[in-house]
Amino acid sequence: MDSPGKTLASAAARSGANPAESAFFDVFFNNSTEAIFITDPKGRLITANPSFIGITGVDLSAAVGLAPPILASEFHDREFYIALWRTLKRKGGWKGEILQRRASGEICREWLSISSHKNSGGEVTHYVGTFTDASNQMSQSFSKHYYDSLTKLPNRLLLQDRLEFMINHARRNNELMALLLLDVDRFKMINDTFGYEAGDALLQTTADRLLTCVRDVDVVFRSGDDEFAIILEEIAHPEDAAKVARRILKTCSEPLQIDNCEIYATICIGISIFPTDGDGKVQMLQNAEAAMHRAREMGLNCFEHYKPSMNARALERLTLESDLRNALGRCELCAFYQPQVEIKTGRVTGAEALLRWKHPELGMIPPTQFIPIAEDTGLILSIGEWVLRTACFEARKWQKGGAPFVVSVNLSANQFQQENLVSIVESSLSNAGMPPELLELEITESMSMKSPEETLKMLRNLKELGVRIAIDDFGTGYSSLSYLKRFPIDTLKIDRSFLMDIPDSTRDSEIVKAIIAMAHSLNLTVIAEGVEMEPQVQYLLQNGCEKMQGYLFSPPVPVPEFEKIWSIYK
Ligand code: C2E
Ligand code: MG
Ligand code: MG
Repeated sequence: MDSPGKTLASAAARSGANPAESAFFDVFFNNSTEAIFITDPKGRLITANPSFIGITGVDLSAAVGLAPPILASEFHDREFYIALWRTLKRKGGWKGEILQRRASGEICREWLSISSHKNSGGEVTHYVGTFTDASNQMSQSFSKHYYDSLTKLPNRLLLQDRLEFMINHARRNNELMALLLLDVDRFKMINDTFGYEAGDALLQTTADRLLTCVRDVDVVFRSGDDEFAIILEEIAHPEDAAKVARRILKTCSEPLQIDNCEIYATICIGISIFPTDGDGKVQMLQNAEAAMHRAREMGLNCFEHYKPSMNARALERLTLESDLRNALGRCELCAFYQPQVEIKTGRVTGAEALLRWKHPELGMIPPTQFIPIAEDTGLILSIGEWVLRTACFEARKWQKGGAPFVVSVNLSANQFQQENLVSIVESSLSNAGMPPELLELEITESMSMKSPEETLKMLRNLKELGVRIAIDDFGTGYSSLSYLKRFPIDTLKIDRSFLMDIPDSTRDSEIVKAIIAMAHSLNLTVIAEGVEMEPQVQYLLQNGCEKMQGYLFSPPVPVPEFEKIWSIYK
């Protein structure tokens, strides 16, 4: 192995140069502003000049015998280097741009030229590389790699890099620094409703507004589709980050004029502080993200500082998520049935299938806790299909008893967008041998109004099968009456929140009365959800509501209990 610090002269001497040439090479090598390095035929570093050390910051004695960093940069993949070596071997040289990380952690961009040197027998004896630091001349490809083309802000890659750099800086100087992660609330909705141009304008304006809220030394990044990040360096107190967050929320909540429309976009922000909330970039990012999720749960236009309890929640959720993946296979899911009762006669005319998860350690978990996880992970598609098949199969037994019986099954938004939903419903019916008119599919009001034209199409396809459709939780979303009129629906289910205070609350009583009247004018059956007290039943009866569902008659119950109820009240 050649010793470190060897000059070009000795390498030149070895390749047959005379002493005068060798001395000249030596001067040139040591004084060149270009970085020069020499490797053996296997690409292992033999020596490099002072400019090489200056630009890369590497410790030459440690680097000799290894691939020089420029030939093993993390920013280029294996294929890139395979192509480089192939060209070098075939043509004797290679030129191009390389990104690499200096020993300080900073990213630099270099123009590299590398050529092979052969002996008289034609064998490669050395490779000689030269490069210059071109970091200041931002090339298009560099810019594309590290900067967002829309907002011109540095992107997630640079965020990671800068964050690490700033953490090290803060650690060395015993300083506090903050990371803010920002999510534009309802960006997707704005994109879908007003189009991509409006979405882009929103992001651009948000970027501009963020820049006005921070000091010159602070850096704003576009870290994802609708996500931004800010590094606040050298803050005196965590409250300083909160002040910036408040300023951002205020600035970004100003309406935005796009295509003659006033758009209100709000932001939620999660904050992590170095060193209290993390001692490395991974933890700082994770914790700011946990805080951002918490802020989103708190509502629109909020910010949250990271708290360790957030990780406990996230961990709990992760555990539930992995358990849920196995729940179907382990037969831990089951359907409970809640009777739906005809108010006039007190007869049970159907039941709503409501999903339950019997967790082996945590006991019975209600759907409100695990359905959001199932939706986020996509598991809802298989779970939803299972509920549908199970409900059809179980209800078919009760239907065969003679009395009419409709089973209702809830559909989630993801299922409703599933292309093969119609064929899943069709095969569930045919496997159970169930007439389609005895199955009612429930979609929520907010789900149906999200993209009403799509809803209309899907509902028409489902309706062609002959199934019934119900709008669930009616009154909690914003319905367009013109769509409600066009949707081929059969039933409106009045949300429990309107029933709670009737007949005592005049306002709620009037709302319920109006919903019943409107539903009847559209020829829809009305089911009141969450009926718990007798006076509610009287009010509903007086106002012509046909059916009810609620704890007063029965909570959702397992199959054997439901069968007892059905045998008495059918
Ligand atoms: P939902 O479809 O509106 O179901 C009615 C909810 O109200 C049920 O809660 C039921 O137990 C509850 N409830 C019924 N009567 C009363 C009452 O008198 N008082 C009170 N306080 N509550 C009453 P559950 O079973 O916890 O289900 C909650 C939600 O989870 C359902 O609301 C539905 O949106 C969703 N869900 C349940 N099963 C499924 C399913 O199989 N698929 C999908 N996608 N969602 C489901
Ligand atoms: Mg329902
Ligand atoms: Mg409901």
